[in-house]
Amino acid sequence: MIKVVKFGGSSLADSTQFKKVLEIIKADKDRKYVIPSAPGKRSDDDTKVTDMLIELYELAAKGKPLDKHIEKIKARYDEIIIGLGLKDFSLDNEFKEIKAELEYNPTYDFAASRGEYLNGLIMAEYLGYEFVDPKDVIFFNEEHGLNSYKTEKRVRERLQDVDHAVIPGFFGSDKEGQIMTFSRGGSDITGSIIAGAIKADVYENWTDVSGFLAADPRVVENPVGIDMITYRELRELSYMGASVLHEDAIFPVRSAGIPINIRNTNKPDDKGTWIVESTGHKPEYVITGIAGKKGFCAVSITKALMNSEIGFGRKVLQAFEENEISFEHMPSGIDTMTVVVHADEFIPKEQNVVSAIHRLTDPDSVEIETDLALIAVVGRAMRSMRGTAGRIFAALSHASVNVRMIDQGSSELNIIIGVENADFEKAIKAIYDIFVTTRL
Ligand code: ASP
Repeated sequence: MIKVVKFGGSSLADSTQFKKVLEIIKADKDRKYVIPSAPGKRSDDDTKVTDMLIELYELAAKGKPLDKHIEKIKARYDEIIIGLGLKDFSLDNEFKEIKAELEYNPTYDFAASRGEYLNGLIMAEYLGYEFVDPKDVIFFNEEHGLNSYKTEKRVRERLQDVDHAVIPGFFGSDKEGQIMTFSRGGSDITGSIIAGAIKADVYENWTDVSGFLAADPRVVENPVGIDMITYRELRELSYMGASVLHEDAIFPVRSAGIPINIRNTNKPDDKGTWIVESTGHKPEYVITGIAGKKGFCAVSITKALMNSEIGFGRKVLQAFEENEISFEHMPSGIDTMTVVVHADEFIPKEQNVVSAIHRLTDPDSVEIETDLALIAVVGRAMRSMRGTAGRIFAALSHASVNVRMIDQGSSELNIIIGVENADFEKAIKAIYDIFVTTRL
């Protein structure tokens, strides 16, 4: 068995956390490839090393002196090195090189990536594993996307005869060999790429929570954890705001059918959440989870007989496309069509969109409604259960929540409900209560 194990920033924030990580790795001989993040926050008011490095880049880009700031970053790593008792190991040379590079050619990606790079060097020394520099195995294309073909091939070749390795997360290189990073939180993607390329048996993602919760704990008090969730369910939930894993981290393992296990470094005995392709495992509740976001607008276009006008929908969407606005949902009636969009993208351009709709479709009226929140109720068990939608709406009506929009995905995996921003929390609590607390 091969397990690829990724540890997030809070799992590697200081030497105490590093020691827990060592225990976890040594507890299972299958944990062969380790992907570290940069040291994260040690407490709520602490600063992540990646943020300190971005600040360092900003100083360098303005030609300001770097020494004082470098000292602060170095102190974070020195605490780890000393705390772990790594006697003949130092990052002095690396810091000199980083300083020289940033003075000569400051780039955001290079600076930001050094957090993982340096943590990876420490981790490799501490574990006695080989260090693999991601710049030699993870490649970006010109559009800043992943060059999957080249990456997978190189990862496989590089790890073929390496039994145990540390491969820092978050970065790779572009065609010219320049360092390039993923978006923030991107070490999750590195772990997934490595697991997918070598066809690992499991991708373990270690963080500071014991997996996904059925609802946001800021909205629902003490929500239940999710034991098992499919990639497709997770995609729906994370798109709607559930954030434990980087959204893009699903794809490389999903295509290889490798399960992801989210685990808690501070509670290693908790089983966490399993993210799988498909499962016969009966879920405990009808719904797997609820997630949502505020801040949407609904643009409703009315035109008599639009239902028989060929190309009407395309023209409406063209008005949004011309203004570079992506749409979220598009419920329609016989003579109306509604396009739901993100308010912050839409509001600054609203009059341009409205005039484009008039020019392209000659409607009877265009109406804009703001302050809309969307809630996704997700569950693979919904398909085979009668009355799920009925229960959701009964719960909402009981809580006096006015439902402004309904959209059921064709997969029957989710039901999206639009409510007023002000009703958002109330609606989520009501849905959670009916399915989980009272388990109706
Ligand atoms: N260190 C990077 C960040 O803070 C990447 C990661 O932790 O995944 O975004």
